[in-house]
Amino acid sequence: MRCPLSITRERRVLCIFPAYTPSFGTFSHAYPMMGVSAFMPPQGLLVIAAYLPEKWSVRFVDENIRPATAADLDWADAVFVSGMHVQAPQIHDIIERAKAAGRVTVLGGPSVSGAPEMYPDADYLHMGEIGDATDALIATLDRGTTPPPAQVRFETRERLPMGDFPTPAYRLIALDRYLLASLQFSSGCPFRCEFCDIPALYGRQPRLKSPEQLLAELDAILARPHPSFIYFVDDNFIANRKAARQILPHVIEWQKKHDFPLQFACEATLDLAKQPEILALMREARFHTVFVGIETPEIDALKAMRKDQNAKQPILEAIGVLNSYGLEVTSGIILGLDTDTDATEERLKEFIDQSNVPVLTINLLQALPKTPLWDRLARDGRIDHDPGLESNVRFLRPYDEVLAMWRRCIAYAYEPERLFARFARQVETTYPHRLQGPVRAALTAENLRRGLFLAVNVLVRVGLLSDYRRPFWRTARQAFRRGQIDAVLGMGFVARHLIEFSREALRGEQNASFYSMHKRSDPAAAGRLRNPVAKNTATAA
Ligand code: SF4
Repeated sequence: MRCPLSITRERRVLCIFPAYTPSFGTFSHAYPMMGVSAFMPPQGLLVIAAYLPEKWSVRFVDENIRPATAADLDWADAVFVSGMHVQAPQIHDIIERAKAAGRVTVLGGPSVSGAPEMYPDADYLHMGEIGDATDALIATLDRGTTPPPAQVRFETRERLPMGDFPTPAYRLIALDRYLLASLQFSSGCPFRCEFCDIPALYGRQPRLKSPEQLLAELDAILARPHPSFIYFVDDNFIANRKAARQILPHVIEWQKKHDFPLQFACEATLDLAKQPEILALMREARFHTVFVGIETPEIDALKAMRKDQNAKQPILEAIGVLNSYGLEVTSGIILGLDTDTDATEERLKEFIDQSNVPVLTINLLQALPKTPLWDRLARDGRIDHDPGLESNVRFLRPYDEVLAMWRRCIAYAYEPERLFARFARQVETTYPHRLQGPVRAALTAENLRRGLFLAVNVLVRVGLLSDYRRPFWRTARQAFRRGQIDAVLGMGFVARHLIEFSREALRGEQNASFYSMHKRSDPAAAGRLRNPVAKNTATAA
């Protein structure tokens, strides 16, 4: 639904989404190979854009694709910005530009909701999810768009039920400029992992969309040029298992009706492995990847961070179960935990080898506001705001040692021979379990154009020019023998990003934490800030 208020004036709203700092999970090195410019559309700001009154004109600029211009700012009456903590420097930069152009600024999204004190520069703060605060903000802008003399805060007390969320304003963006499209079914997570801000920001009682809503959003994506991979940005796809079981048959029916045009990815807790019925439905719906916040292979560390749900069955066994349903696991890993010991590095390396998970986002622990971790560390005087550091946590072990361990671990994980060996295991144990859609569905002119573009790029940039072409071809031959052409292309662009990004990180050109607000000062790295990331909330599950 749109905002129900009766509006008296026409307004022009410019929504600007800030650029992301590159990370392992943003796949920025893959964009030139795919002919795209950014990772994934910002779901939250697109929903707000769709909720604004019909009488208002809305323009949308994702600065991961292009910067907002002086003409955009001249056009607008008000500038809306949204983002995560990791985008804080870019958020401040947008506010500064908008104010210099004389525009009133509105800041919403997860970062300001968690830490409003970080943003004294915005005119209006929208804290919390879409709801009564959004209506109050719209009513205020309807009355006038002159910047207020002092900052005004609107905080949502009553959320808009998810069943009333409008379809995100996909019409305002070029979906086909993104590597993935995004979709949201639920919000919130019942768990309480110590480092995670999702329960405080979005609640522990998952809220849901209706099947009709979700299918309407799929229709909206299908109606325009789009990527064929869709990421469910839900904090935890199985936060409400019954709801996941109930929605999946609708997705399967929709896929059948349209000849299976899409593949899906999502985030979920590792106890998904104990849900065979959901896994079978996910397979049938064409879920191919699941991001799991495994965090650490050390059980005591999982217990200390209150992530016992990952320890309900042996971790390697659980990953094997997910693989057997055709799901490639992507794993979040955290280093710098209080429980780290001299043995942590070796255990992580063993886990990398034994799990055969190709993509691991290995980050340093970062304390986010509104988390139990933040409260504990603040009590102990262990939050460090030094912008020159890679994390705001004062680790128990020496900082240089933790950073050196992170470097050794990413060097180990993304050494090309080792990475392609893990892909080779996926060729044997995961990809054969995926169901294929009818070939005719894949044979659209657009898909053929994209596939050909990617194939040429993988062939030239990875298969011919890279110094890791040998392990690539070894694994590619194995996949070709099994008829897994898609896997060869996917592996080519993913591996290229991981290897190139880890090399940059080892040269000190990238941050050691996806969540870090550390802004690099060298111009080359600053140029690369024109890049995207996962979603409009912290990547969790
Ligand atoms: S890390 Fe994942 S499982 Fe834990 S509270 Fe956050 S969303 Fe839930």
